[in-house]
This record gives sequence, C-alpha cells and structure tokens, in this order.
Amino acid sequence: MPKTLRCTDLIPGCDFVARGQSEDEVIARIAEHIRTKHRLRAITPEILKQIRASVYEEKVTAA
Ligand SMILES: [Zn+2]
Repeated sequence: MPKTLRCTDLIPGCDFVARGQSEDEVIARIAEHIRTKHRLRAITPEILKQIRASVYEEKVTAA
C-alpha cells in the first residue's frame, strides 16, 4: 500500500508531497526535502516523530 506524507502537515504552507511504497521510503524523501528546501540541518527525533505521525496510507481509487 503506497504511503503519502504532505509536507504541509509539518511545515504549513508547503505543497510538497512525498510518496513511497513504504514508510521508510517516504521518510527518506521528506527528510531529504526538509534538508534541502527548508534548510534544516538535522532531522531531530522530535521531527522524526512528527513525520511518522503524519504518514498515511494512500487510498487507492479505482482506475
Ligand atoms: Zn516542504
């Protein structure tokens, strides 16, 4: 089940959306995005906790 995380859930106003096949993949993508776009040097345990709480399973709509 694909996972999705919206950056706006962490940093309001950002329209970046990370998607991946696993939570780890999504977290890796959002961590990279936060480091490069939001100039955050380190992902602290607090931020990681917030990230994990914000990841959700993408609802698959009938194609
Ligand atoms: Zn962002």
